[in-house]
Amino acid sequence: MKKAIIPVISILILSQLSFCQQKGDKSVTENNSTSTTFEIEKPDSEWKKILTPEQYQVLREKGTEYAFSGKYYLYDKKGIYRCAACGNPLFDSKTKYHSGSGWPSFYKPIDEDAVVLRPDNSDGMKRTEILCGRCGGHLGHVFEDGPKPTGLRYCVNSIAMEFEKKNKKD
Ligand code: FE
Repeated sequence: MKKAIIPVISILILSQLSFCQQKGDKSVTENNSTSTTFEIEKPDSEWKKILTPEQYQVLREKGTEYAFSGKYYLYDKKGIYRCAACGNPLFDSKTKYHSGSGWPSFYKPIDEDAVVLRPDNSDGMKRTEILCGRCGGHLGHVFEDGPKPTGLRYCVNSIAMEFEKKNKKD
């Protein structure tokens, strides 16, 4: 019974990953190398105390939440999205749009230092990873099939973010 379940689970995981894949073979300009150091650096044992197991799996182990499962996928309130690990402001709701991908999508970060981009060749795909610019937490991937004005789609895991309503002071 178990032998039959494992291939089915593998296929499900692979189909989830390919959904967040880019259609073309363009490359986004990464703004940092793999040796970036971050303002907030903590050992894994510390992150495990701060984050839920699900957040840890995405933010520190580069996991991906299931498509259409995240709390912010169809969320349209006005405000900002912060890193769930360190509170760094990442995205403004003004740049959020419905991509149909199954994950919250934005066409640009809140400012140029909010995130760091890195090449990611894991899982047999050529992608560009989005990291929090302050703590290095994994947020998702960016693709070049987004809307104007940037043409980019920042495809982000809901669980890696915390929403904050507008009119609250930063
Ligand atoms: Fe962060």
